[in-house]
Amino acid sequence: MAEQARSIAIIGAGVIGTAAAFALSREGWRVVLFDRAPPGEAGASFGNAGHVATELVEPLPAPALLFNFWRELFVLGGVLDIPLRRILSPWAMRFARAAFQRREHTALLAPFVRPAVPALIELLAQAERPDLIRQNGHFQVWMGRSAARDAQAQAKAMEKLEVATRPAPAEVVEAARNAARAEHGAGLWFPNCAHVLDPLEVVRAFAAAARKLGASFQRHEVMAIRPAPEGCEVVTPGSSTRVTAAVVCAGVWSGPLLKPFGLKVPIEAARGYHVQMPDAAPLVDAPIVYSDQNIVVTPMAGRMRATSFMEFTASDAPADPRKAAWLRASVRELGYTCDEAAPAWVGPRPVLPDYLPAIGRSAALPGLYYAFAHQHIGLTLAAVTARAVADLVAGRPRPDLTGFDLRRFGG
Ligand SMILES: Cc1cc2nc3c(=O)[nH]c(=O)nc-3n(C[C@H](O)[C@H](O)[C@H](O)COP(=O)(O)OP(=O)(O)OC[C@H]3O[C@@H](n4cnc5c(N)ncnc54)[C@H](O)[C@@H]3O)c2cc1C
Repeated sequence: MAEQARSIAIIGAGVIGTAAAFALSREGWRVVLFDRAPPGEAGASFGNAGHVATELVEPLPAPALLFNFWRELFVLGGVLDIPLRRILSPWAMRFARAAFQRREHTALLAPFVRPAVPALIELLAQAERPDLIRQNGHFQVWMGRSAARDAQAQAKAMEKLEVATRPAPAEVVEAARNAARAEHGAGLWFPNCAHVLDPLEVVRAFAAAARKLGASFQRHEVMAIRPAPEGCEVVTPGSSTRVTAAVVCAGVWSGPLLKPFGLKVPIEAARGYHVQMPDAAPLVDAPIVYSDQNIVVTPMAGRMRATSFMEFTASDAPADPRKAAWLRASVRELGYTCDEAAPAWVGPRPVLPDYLPAIGRSAALPGLYYAFAHQHIGLTLAAVTARAVADLVAGRPRPDLTGFDLRRFGG
């Protein structure tokens, strides 16, 4: 059994775990990062849209969605795939309850999301990879008959939330409209958003920067965390590692590691798909959110990436080939070069029913912390969360995190 002084284990080397590993290494902790796969390769962080989405200050559950979600169902041509038994599940009931607490939940989430761009820029600069992020904002476009009205309504909604928007430059809207051969077009520019050129490289950058400061990486499945004298023990097949503290950053797989400590984790995988388009040309050097199609297209290093779908199913269920096929056909209709062989991927967004993250500390085992469930904005929140975890572990006073404590689910 390995023994370390002032050491901290991080379970999960996605973007949240590696960002936390780097932040804690910078504070002098001896970090041991665990993952069953190389950093960034096995979870949602591998294939996201690369959008640093500071406009998403509201959690998703909303009364309007409860009444209109059926319009988005996959069986009706939409991007939401949720089987009936999940619509009637306790998770969905909690989601419905959260819809009526949206204002309070926004008050908790918004202050966390707003500083995300400068925080990520700073952490990537500290990791010596400032080149991975571009702060050109993002564009949202509409191309239906009501495009102009839709854009106006969105601008108003964003203004209420204090999210800055400007009318998208005419040349951007024209480029999108011409490429899609659409009759109508309108768009907004969100100047305070950003995008990364490669989400996997972001994870690798944080992992490498942590390693430079002495962090080690153990490629193992973590089976359990156990209390140990002056800390805890991380159990992997055939061995265990004694540490002063541990942080569970295992995305959608975090529940079983925390359950023994009385924490309830009603988490679901809201899976999303991407296709990569190595031959497609960007219309602009920023993500474009195609509102009518619910597709985000992001320019990345050496390729374009299109993402979509919310598929509620087991995190390890086989990919549904119809979804990649739909994405390929849809981006072709939008004017992008995308052949049938365009590589596709599916990955699990970790979502709690109130769409707030889980960040906190176990009461049963004081050296045990957690940071996961960053829903659709885990890349966005990685640096902010890393800072919050470092503050929590150091016992520094910081803005109240009780809204993200798992005890909100009982236990
Ligand atoms: C299609 C799609 C598009 C998205 N677009 C965006 C976007 O544009 N912007 C944005 O901000 N977010 C986006 N997201 C969400 C974002 O990707 C996630 O919120 C984020 O990646 C979650 O990071 P994580 O580190 O918590 O989890 P993960 O990346 O899932 O990492 C968890 C890691 O834990 C490891 N692990 C789990 N259990 C164990 C165990 N017992 N032992 C060892 N290792 C374990 C796994 O192997 C995995 O590597 C998107 C997601 C998807 C699917």
